Amino acid sequence: MGSSSTLTEAHHENLFASVLARLQTAAEKIQLKPQVLKVLSNCQKEIKVSLPVVMDNGNIEVFEAYRVIHSTHVGPSKGGIRYAMDVNDDEVRALAAWMTFKCAVADLPYGGAKGGIKCDPKKMSVGELERLTRAYAKAMKNVFGVNLDIPAPDMGTSGREMAWIVDEFNKMIGEDVPGVITGKPINIGGSLGREAATGRGVMVNTLQALEKLKIDPKKATAVVQGFGNVGSHAARLLFEQGLKVVAIGDHSASIYNPNGINISDALQYVSKNNRVLKGFTGGHEIPSDQLLTLPCDVLVPAALQNVINEHNAPKIQAKIIVEGANGPTLPEADDILNQKGILVVPDILANSGGVTVSYFEWVQNKAGFYWSEDEVNQKHDIKMKTAFGKVWANMEEYKVSMRIAAYITALKKIEKAVMDKGFY
Ligand code: NAD
Repeated sequence: MGSSSTLTEAHHENLFASVLARLQTAAEKIQLKPQVLKVLSNCQKEIKVSLPVVMDNGNIEVFEAYRVIHSTHVGPSKGGIRYAMDVNDDEVRALAAWMTFKCAVADLPYGGAKGGIKCDPKKMSVGELERLTRAYAKAMKNVFGVNLDIPAPDMGTSGREMAWIVDEFNKMIGEDVPGVITGKPINIGGSLGREAATGRGVMVNTLQALEKLKIDPKKATAVVQGFGNVGSHAARLLFEQGLKVVAIGDHSASIYNPNGINISDALQYVSKNNRVLKGFTGGHEIPSDQLLTLPCDVLVPAALQNVINEHNAPKIQAKIIVEGANGPTLPEADDILNQKGILVVPDILANSGGVTVSYFEWVQNKAGFYWSEDEVNQKHDIKMKTAFGKVWANMEEYKVSMRIAAYITALKKIEKAVMDKGFY
């Protein structure tokens, strides 16, 4: 990503600080009780383990792995597991805190957590990944639990890893508890609609934002960064809603076509090309650092954190940014985007569709009764529209950005929970 990867590294250690900066601003606006701010400025529990794993060549590799629980005030903690080389304690803390706020914005009965393993899944065999994942599940025996801490997929993980974790967990505790993890494959207790849910939430939020700005979706253009779980489903669903998706990009290539990319073709291409866009001929390849600044109505960053910074923010031409990724915008870029009048639908609202359908999966697991995909999607869309409406109302009431309004929406709920539960 050219210059942005340098910036990613430069801001690497500051991700949790950037959560706290936004938390502080929102807290001041609503005069949050200082004791609540103090509690939420810290993580409740942080676990770091070393996992020795036998590699295919017979050597032992030791992997660093984390689980951070930020808050359990509203309910058991919920949050994904990330496999990536840049996983570190600061990043996991930030992601855990975002989960607390995200679950509160979506009005789910959960607190927030996140986990991660420092590894490069693309360079590991399936057998190595399975042994690593099972070792992680074992290490988290007393952390995970259906009413305690419920993980899910994130970057670098999918239903496959969730299946290994639930299997390992069930063996350890001696009973079948599918609700200990969400994002599972359908045949072992996953929910219909879960895989596409985060992208669906991005689509619903985009349509809500377009309506507020009185832009006809059928005349709108979109650019999507990231073509993994979130980006590919978001691009497909926006395309299906009639938006012209003029550019898509992943770590291998960025593809531009001002006449619109056929997303069905792109999906078919990546399914046969090791999930990467490089070589896709439905547009022409452009340098990846140009993707975010292309002319468009809607920009969806759905890959990495810290990609919108003070250097590229002044050049962004989109009218709306819908944050599919967690933390794609640095705090210093927020001010620039606000001054330019760009509406930013923030991550803790825009990508909350995933955890919302994870919640539905957990409810279905607990009830042992499963819903149709239409039912899941309908319930999801209602939750998303309600959350968008609440955040919009707080934005107008407090005259703040949509991001700060989303934190305000979350804090109003969490403050009550912290005070109801009390202190030592
Ligand atoms: P994924 O691993 O499925 O896909 C990541 C995508 O990002 C891939 O297409 C990859 O090629 C692309 N990418 C990586 N490096 C890039 C680069 N330098 N430039 C452009 N593209 C690059 O991950 P995902 O699950 O889609 O997650 C993406 C983001 O969404 C993350 O921030 C994640 O935390 C967030 N998120 C995911 C979910 C979910 O349900 N999966 C839910 C909420 C938020």
